[in-house]
Amino acid sequence: MFTCKQVSNALSKEDYEKLPPLRRFFLRLHVKLCVFCGKYNRQVMDSQDMCRCYKEHEITSEETFAQYRPQMESA
Ligand SMILES: [Zn+2]
Repeated sequence: MFTCKQVSNALSKEDYEKLPPLRRFFLRLHVKLCVFCGKYNRQVMDSQDMCRCYKEHEITSEETFAQYRPQMESA
């Protein structure tokens, strides 16, 4: 299992979704069960989730734009 410090370190370095699945699992588990860092680190994970959604949304709208562009040129 992770210590609070290891969890915080792992979350501060990069998007936790990029971690290996097993590591991610224990990280989530710790955050869920820990009374000391759980509340804080859950917020960190939430903000990373939001960040990820935003990036995905951005890519999608770019793709949509690319699909429309040929039509605009031919018009
Ligand atoms: Zn903890």
